[in-house]
Amino acid sequence: MKIACVGGGPAGLYLSILLKLQDPAHDVTVHERGPEGSTYGWGVTYWRGLLDKLDAHDPASARAVEEHSVRWNHGIAHVRDAATRHPGDEGFGIGRHRLLEILAGRARSLGVRLEFEREITGRNLPPADLVVAADGVHSALRARHTDHFGEKIRTGRNRYIWLGTTQVFDAFTFAFVETDHGWIWCYGYPFSPERSTCVVECAPETWTGLGLHTANEADGLAVLEKLFADVLDGHPLIGRSTAQGGAPWLNFRTLTNRTWHRDNLVLLGDAAHSTHYSIGAGTTLALEDAIALAGALREHTALPEALAHYERERKQALLSIQSAARYSAQWYENLPRYLRLPPDRMFALLGQRHSPLLPYVPPQLYYRMDKAAGQSEALRRLKRWLGPKVARTVHARALASRK
Ligand SMILES: Cc1cc2nc3c(=O)[nH]c(=O)nc-3n(C[C@H](O)[C@H](O)[C@H](O)COP(=O)(O)OP(=O)(O)OC[C@H]3O[C@@H](n4cnc5c(N)ncnc54)[C@H](O)[C@@H]3O)c2cc1C
Repeated sequence: MKIACVGGGPAGLYLSILLKLQDPAHDVTVHERGPEGSTYGWGVTYWRGLLDKLDAHDPASARAVEEHSVRWNHGIAHVRDAATRHPGDEGFGIGRHRLLEILAGRARSLGVRLEFEREITGRNLPPADLVVAADGVHSALRARHTDHFGEKIRTGRNRYIWLGTTQVFDAFTFAFVETDHGWIWCYGYPFSPERSTCVVECAPETWTGLGLHTANEADGLAVLEKLFADVLDGHPLIGRSTAQGGAPWLNFRTLTNRTWHRDNLVLLGDAAHSTHYSIGAGTTLALEDAIALAGALREHTALPEALAHYERERKQALLSIQSAARYSAQWYENLPRYLRLPPDRMFALLGQRHSPLLPYVPPQLYYRMDKAAGQSEALRRLKRWLGPKVARTVHARALASRK
């Protein structure tokens, strides 16, 4: 089978590895528009479950990924002058550069052709039995058939910027800072022994109030370094290199598609769906898509069946994660609602931000319910049952009132 993967991100590279492992006779090429070793972003988080999956499908790359990751086992939230530390799930961070380097090396060693600096827009689409659009959330291949794919985009209200820092956090670190123009916060996590990621987010009014909308990159970083001085402890924030045009402030775009395939073209990873970065799942989902697509191609000899199977399986698997990501993004958009709580309660509800029930229950009451549910299985079940029900009812009412 001749396969063209457009996009050398985690999704495209991992799929190419799995297909070659499945059948070394497959002719697989990855076309990546950027030069080798250049990528956007800093570190990405993931959890133990991903390592287990990678290990089951390709132990060699799983080992390399684990070896080059750093880990933490607690979270810390700084709110005003208080810091609350909570033991939590073991988490992992790896630099995006490093992850792509590992996957590209492994793909090459298996005989995948990697063509860097090759942008595929549709008109120069290489002939292939299967074309995989793994070209990210702004997919040019998807954009050629927007109506067919039924793309929907929800643009988040808050502004964010993806930065690096030389401060090496020893935990997943949140810092919430109050300014004269509203709250601004950052999420920091290490991804190598020398570097951490630092994503900064705020409401649009705070962004303009602080002058971040007009500041050049250096001045903007200086403002942020001052605001987050306590957690950065004298370390600088780092944008992108000037050659890459500086780190942009963006609004997150949550993408869904009605269908994920058209003839021999299939969407993979962020080209098919995106989930808000605050749940740190996009890379994991992209890799899981690759596992599912490779599995479907192995199980079904007819391409239409394989692609339909892949789409069904992944859409189903994504339902709860997309819901968690939506509620998590909304939690941050409604942050002042939670920042009135004492810091330990606020942090407890930060951990509950995926809950469909939380937006509809006063935070103090929710906190008490959650505490009680911790001691009673019956209450836990009630909470799980009530959450989606309340969310559905409120959503249906909102739709009806718009008609
Ligand atoms: C601020 C932020 C923080 C994040 N943090 C995390 C995290 O902690 N954990 C996590 O799991 N995920 C995180 N993510 C999400 C994660 O980065 C993405 O979900 C993941 O990179 C998707 O992988 P992909 O391979 O589908 O797409 P991408 O990684 O976007 O790769 C697409 C590739 O296609 C190439 N390309 C694009 N167009 C073309 C073209 N026309 N021709 C050829 N090549 C092309 C691009 O250069 C790119 O290399 C974060 C995202 C953001 C924005």
